Amino acid sequence: MLQNGQLAETVISGYTSDGLGVCHIDGCAVFVPDVLRGERCLVRVVHAGRNSAHGVCAKLLERSAHRIAPDCPQAKHCGGCALRHMDYEEEFAFKQQRVRDALARLGGVALGELPITGAERCDGYRNKAQYPVQTVKGRLEAGFYRRGSHALVPVERCRILPEVADLARAAVTDWARRSRIPAYDERTRSGLLRHIFVRVGMKSGQVMVCLAVNGETVPDRALLLRLLQKRVPGLASVQLSVNRSPGNVILGDVTKTLWGEDAIDDELCGNVFRLSARSFYQVNRDQAERLYEKAIEYAGLTGTETVLDLYCGAGTITLAMARHARRAVGVELVAEAIEDAKQNAARNVVENAEFFCADAGEAAIRFAEAGERPDVIVVDPPRKGLSPDVIAAIEAMAPPRVVYVSCDPATLARDVKLLTANAYRLDKAEAFDLFPRTSHVETVVLLSRK
Ligand code: SAH
Repeated sequence: MLQNGQLAETVISGYTSDGLGVCHIDGCAVFVPDVLRGERCLVRVVHAGRNSAHGVCAKLLERSAHRIAPDCPQAKHCGGCALRHMDYEEEFAFKQQRVRDALARLGGVALGELPITGAERCDGYRNKAQYPVQTVKGRLEAGFYRRGSHALVPVERCRILPEVADLARAAVTDWARRSRIPAYDERTRSGLLRHIFVRVGMKSGQVMVCLAVNGETVPDRALLLRLLQKRVPGLASVQLSVNRSPGNVILGDVTKTLWGEDAIDDELCGNVFRLSARSFYQVNRDQAERLYEKAIEYAGLTGTETVLDLYCGAGTITLAMARHARRAVGVELVAEAIEDAKQNAARNVVENAEFFCADAGEAAIRFAEAGERPDVIVVDPPRKGLSPDVIAAIEAMAPPRVVYVSCDPATLARDVKLLTANAYRLDKAEAFDLFPRTSHVETVVLLSRK
């Protein structure tokens, strides 16, 4: 086993799934932040484990041509962007490899080339910000968590967000300081203001600001609204989310409108979407459009099919597919999202879409038992991937095509392995970079019945 403090000269051979450099010291894998493939470094072991270790680069001996100077003052500490030290060419290659490796190692499917659609813009693309609030050195601050911890890094300007998000954050912190609002403290579970949530309709220009609070209401509402109205162009909705739970969930179950609309609008794949605070919406609108176009292509719709869209959110994929199918059915767990989805169908005059608020697995089993036989099943689950119920229901309904949209290559690969063990084969796969400068990547695959 390696010893903490041990130094070794080594070459970085690749990356972990979250973008740390990997090297080997005495046969043990060591993970090192802020280094690039091919770089020769003097690595200091800082946390030696039984099978692997964490290290830091004590001295960079040979730098990669892909190394760039981080263009953000917070880059070293902020947990938001893991890849600010590499150019986009290297980031692109890293993401392509990440998906290909996961599908090969965990999914058991060897792909020659894996196409990946890179992002056209790496700055200002994110339409949603969730700033944690804390007291730092006696002052209320909002920013982002430090890598691997819940210590706050105060942020003035975040490059991947549009400027209006930071303007909203600054207006809220200004109000909170002036009104002596206490920041929430995770350890003591005291204080009021937990998170500042901002969502921007990139097409509509509408902005929603939602305060997640450990309480039912906030004092000094008039000042809050005055500051937001003055400083946030496009402000359309101010919400309060009541969250008294101890965990890491950002928004609570009860949402109240403090001012303006209950939701904001945005446009995607030719439809207008109403988006409540609790409805999921892809954070990169332009790239989501390209991802969904690929999902529609993979679905191979001719206008006669029934499509079942599991984990449908506010109906973004369901409604886009409904336009090319006979009937589309969406299933989603969050009630507000289903309410949005129903309103979105009506607004866009899509009359062949139905929505159900349910657990995807339970609903899928019920559909299978009721004799539903969709032609295409679309799944777009959260990071943990499909539940065993969903896999079983897919096998029972036996659709000719399954289109799987995934934000986690590892769980995608695990599920692909399960589905390809029996009736399906992996036909096509493509990755899309929706999250430039971070290690995250989306993938869509087409599974066809053997
Ligand atoms: N397809 C949508 C949403 C994808 S995100 C879009 O692209 O916009 C995943 C969605 O799954 C979220 O809306 C989340 O609320 C929902 N979800 C999480 N667990 C679920 C479950 N067990 N059953 C149904 N939906 C679930």
